[in-house]
Amino acid sequence: MDEPEFSVENFYKFVSEGKLMGARCRRCGKLMVPPRPVCPECYSRDLEWVQLSGRGTVETFTIIHVPTVLLEGKEPYAVAVIRLDEGPKIPGMLPDVASPGQLKIGDRVRVEFDRSPQKVPGSWPNWPRYYFVKE
Ligand SMILES: [Zn+2]
Repeated sequence: MDEPEFSVENFYKFVSEGKLMGARCRRCGKLMVPPRPVCPECYSRDLEWVQLSGRGTVETFTIIHVPTVLLEGKEPYAVAVIRLDEGPKIPGMLPDVASPGQLKIGDRVRVEFDRSPQKVPGSWPNWPRYYFVKE
């Protein structure tokens, strides 16, 4: 097989190219986001990369007022669990949501990509980011 390794590093490499990718099990169809090297359902290693639509719905969220170092100056913002249309749930930031009234569970969102992540001295790895906006 010539698929890139099913690692979080490669997940973020795709993010840097503006693609949200998951790993799909060729045996049972299980979709993993971020990818894992082994299917948690059937333990198969026969996986393939698939590009996701980046669209989904808000499952739960919270408003962050005290950010991590990487996001200093961007507060307040929301961090949500997004259920992707393809099924998996992933955490994501919604930079434009500053108060609970601006977002509802069940709202439709889509992914955007930050192509110029801030360099923070001393932090590693400096992974590119994806985030979500309301549709
Ligand atoms: Zn499987």
